[in-house]
Order: sequence, then C-alpha cells, then structure tokens
Amino acid sequence: LGNSLQDALKKIVKSGRIDERTVNEVVKDIQRALLQSDVNVKLVMQMSKHIKERALKEEVPSGMSPREHVIRIVYQELINIIGKSTDIPLKPQTIMMIGLQGSGKTTTTSKLARYFQRKGLKPGVVCADTFRPGAYQQLKTLCTKLNVAFYGEEGNPDAVGIVERGLKELEKNDILIVDTAGRHSLESDLITEMEEIHAVAKPDYKLLVLDGAIGQQASEQARAFNESIGISGVVISKLDGTAKGGGALSAVSETNSSIAFIGIGETPDDLERFEADRFISRLLGMGDIKSLIEKAEEALGEEDFDMESMLRGKFTLKDMYKQLESLNKMGPMKQIMQMLPLGGMGAKIPEDAYQVTGDKLGRYRVLMDSMTEEEMLNPRIIGSARIKRIARGSGCAPEDVRELLKYHKMMQTAMKGFRGGKFNMQKMMKKMGM
Ligand code: GDP
Ligand code: MG
Repeated sequence: LGNSLQDALKKIVKSGRIDERTVNEVVKDIQRALLQSDVNVKLVMQMSKHIKERALKEEVPSGMSPREHVIRIVYQELINIIGKSTDIPLKPQTIMMIGLQGSGKTTTTSKLARYFQRKGLKPGVVCADTFRPGAYQQLKTLCTKLNVAFYGEEGNPDAVGIVERGLKELEKNDILIVDTAGRHSLESDLITEMEEIHAVAKPDYKLLVLDGAIGQQASEQARAFNESIGISGVVISKLDGTAKGGGALSAVSETNSSIAFIGIGETPDDLERFEADRFISRLLGMGDIKSLIEKAEEALGEEDFDMESMLRGKFTLKDMYKQLESLNKMGPMKQIMQMLPLGGMGAKIPEDAYQVTGDKLGRYRVLMDSMTEEEMLNPRIIGSARIKRIARGSGCAPEDVRELLKYHKMMQTAMKGFRGGKFNMQKMMKKMGM
C-alpha cells in the first residue's frame, strides 16, 4: 500500500498544482492501494469520493504544497473512520474477550491483565474457553507468571457455569477479564455461547480481537458479534508482523466502535494503546505523516498544544508530557530556558527547573503512563490514594509521584509568569521549534 500511495502522491508533487485530472488519477491509485490492503470496497469508495471533493474544493493553505494538501485530506478522512482510541477507564469492571480461534484473545487477555496491573489495579482472569484443548493450561501458565489471579475448571465443558463461579470467586479483584473460546469460523453455536456468557458476565466492555492480517472477513465478524452482544472496542493483534491492519478499518466503521489496543508481539508486555496517528502512518507506509500534519496545522494557525490556554494558567500534566517529549528531542532544559530573555518577561524560573535530566524525564513518562486521562488533565485531583496507585502501577515510589507533581506546579507557575511578558510568546516558542 505504502509504495503505490507514495507513487500516487508523487504524481501530485510533479504536477505542482491541483486539477481535476490529477486528483482523479491520484484517487484511483489510492483506491487501488487501499483495496490491496484489504480495506472494504464500500469504505474505499466513500472515502475516495470525499477526498476528491475536498481536494478540489478546499483551498490549498498558503505555505503548503499540493502534496501536503492531499495527504492531509487523506489523513483526515482516515481519522474520520478510525476515530479516537476506545476509552477504558481505570476502575473496577468486567471485560469480555471475543473473536475467532487464533485471533489472539488469550494472549491479549494476559497483556490486558499486565496493562492494568501496571496501572496499579488488581486484575483477575476467568478462562471460559472450554472448547480448545490446552486453553486452560495456556491461560493459567500466563497468569501464574504475571502473578495474576486466575479461575478455570479444567475438563468442565460448562463455560457459562465457569464464568458464573469465576466472577464470584474473583470478585475482590478490580478488573475481571473473561477469556472466551473461539471457533475457526462464525458458527452459530459460537454466537449462542457468547450470548449466554454475556448474559451471565454482564461485561462493561466487550473487546473484539482481530488478527491484523485479517481482510474482508473483518466486517462480517464484527457485524455478527455486534448484532448479538455488541462490541465496545477492537484490539488488533499481530501488528508486529507485516500486516497493516486494514481490515480493522472496516470492522470499526461497520460497528461504529473504535480501536482500543494493538498487539505487537507474543509477550504480555507487547501491548500498546491504539494511536490513530501511528496507525495511519503505518497504513499509508509513511513514517513522517504526523510531523507533516503538524506542519500543516501550523500553517493553518492551529496549535498542537494550546499555548493560549497554557498562558492563562491552564497547563495540564498532558501539556507538560508533550513539552517534555519535545524537549527530549531538543536537548537539556537549561539550554532552552537560557534562550529565553527571562528577566524582561518577569518570569521566575527556579533553579530546580533546570535540573531535569534525561533520567528524570524517563521516570516522569513512566509515572504519567500510569495516570488516567482525568488525572493528566486535572492533576489537582491526585490525592494520597491516587499517588499510591500511580506509584504501585509504575513501579516507582510515592515520593517520585509527589516530585513530579511539584515539578508540574513549578512549571505551571512559570507559565503564568510568562504571561506578564510584553512580547509575542507564541511566535518565539514557534521560532525555537517548541
Ligand atoms: P486465541 O485463540 O484467540 O486465544 O489466540 P491466542 O491468544 O492463543 O493466539 C494465537 C497465536 O497468535 C499464538 O501463537 C500467539 O502467540 C500469537 N499472537 C497473539 N497475539 C500476537 C501478537 O500481537 N504478535 C504475534 N507475533 N503473535 C501473536
Ligand atoms: Mg484462546
């Protein structure tokens, strides 16, 4: 897909301007590329129609090449379909895994247990796969290694009864994950079994696991499960291989759901939160798509982080995370701070603010990975109970969490100080590449 799409886009670069013939040609190439990548035909047609209309109608923003203009539109249309990552809050709940045999349910179950464990929660896992020989041992071994509570009944074919007893047995755990059996294809007894387990487990989330290499069958599977028990999110497994996950696109569009996680290997740590940007880059075979889009948004006057509200004092942990990431690329904090004419701005930057070494940045990131979205946006809610949970989940000490919060407060104050400056902060930050 990547190559032919890139070829297609090159055509636009060469032509240097947007006219109908060029756009038609490029859209045809994009169609071919997406179809080759197993994206659903209907979806491809819908998308290419929008791309065509928009590429011709919308003005090419000044400073952007026609190529960038079209990439941006392709990107936005893909984002429209894929949407944001499924939000799974960090609170006590039951998650049911569904999918065909071999899709990666059991592996993903262990990955999820690990994920929530890292966030400081106490997962428990129920093995409801009574169909495949060895399923019980596979999951039990994984859970034992992770030190995760496990319930199963080897040899008992009554999956529904096992779920009922397992959830009761594990009720003291926070996150209950029910791993179910698959079949080689969508047989009716699989759907019936899922409906029966669903009725007993009453899961808060139903995650459909799809093999990243799956093609057209993705939408059929997604539809069948969605019509019977409903799907709250999709996990795409095996994206560590050559698969691009094009089928998942059809699945989320078909069921109006979104992607929660991707699997990138066989070990319990090989799970990542889904990020649309990265997924699309991969789908298009373009590593640089994010920076390209950022450049485009900048040209259009939009900001990745909202400098205005930051200067109003709304500087969240999320903003800080983004800043730390870009600082990481740029070099030591002190150097950057020294580039600012601080005195004239009336900002008081404490000497401590300079003392953020690479080590610390790394630890801050780990800590913030164990925080919830809500905590990142509103750090004030982080009290001692949350500090404990974050510390436990990240494998750091509570003092580390407190230090991070202190650092954030300091930066927030400094940001407010900048506001007093008379010059255009935004312009200057941009000039510096921030
Ligand atoms: P289930 O039948 O749906 O429970 O599927 P399993 O979890 O047993 O996985 C089937 C096979 O796919 C196993 O050999 C797993 O090791 C492998 N697998 C699962 N997820 C991934 C992944 O993200 N990457 C790779 N490389 N292999 C995976
Ligand atoms: Mg399994």
